[in-house]
Amino acid sequence: MTSWSALAAEMAGCTACALAASRTQVVPGVRPAGARIVLVGEAPGREEDEGGVPFVGRSGRLLDELLAGAGLDRRELAVVNTVKCRPPGNRTPRRAEAATCRPWLDAQVAAVDPAVIVTLGGSALAWALGPGRRLGAERGRVHQVRLPGADQTAYDVVATYHPAAALRFGPHGAPRAALAADLQLAAGLAGR
Ligand code: SF4
Repeated sequence: MTSWSALAAEMAGCTACALAASRTQVVPGVRPAGARIVLVGEAPGREEDEGGVPFVGRSGRLLDELLAGAGLDRRELAVVNTVKCRPPGNRTPRRAEAATCRPWLDAQVAAVDPAVIVTLGGSALAWALGPGRRLGAERGRVHQVRLPGADQTAYDVVATYHPAAALRFGPHGAPRAALAADLQLAAGLAGR
């Protein structure tokens, strides 16, 4: 298994899909030692592309708030995206781009070997459970997922909304409440 730092170093020069042309830098994500939860988002946005760190800006601040409500601290979690380079205009990554980038994400998860994976939004849901799934139908429960190329380890996966959706629907919207509840579920699975 390739180490996290070796993966990040290799990834920095990746030009395997068209998103290489629109990025400032590859954003590999973060992995504190001992992380038991991996959060999987969608793609770097403008601020992430500039700073090289995932989930900064408004979405990141809301995520931190909801994590704290679930008794979690982002500094203890691994945080990655489905694709590592910013799509032009922050559009949703195309299926072919996500498929090309997938081996990086699968290898990152294997390197962390977490107790729980939390997918945030539709792109990460498709990575974990396959295309055509509806978030509303898949959230709020635990899925068992075996990743390609990994051993027979089945990971616990909690699928939930992206913080950007929670922001879009407002503080009293259903996505925010669902995201908060799903992070609580993940915290319990991770023994927190
Ligand atoms: S999005 Fe992924 S596959 Fe595409 S260039 Fe960036 S690191 Fe490589």
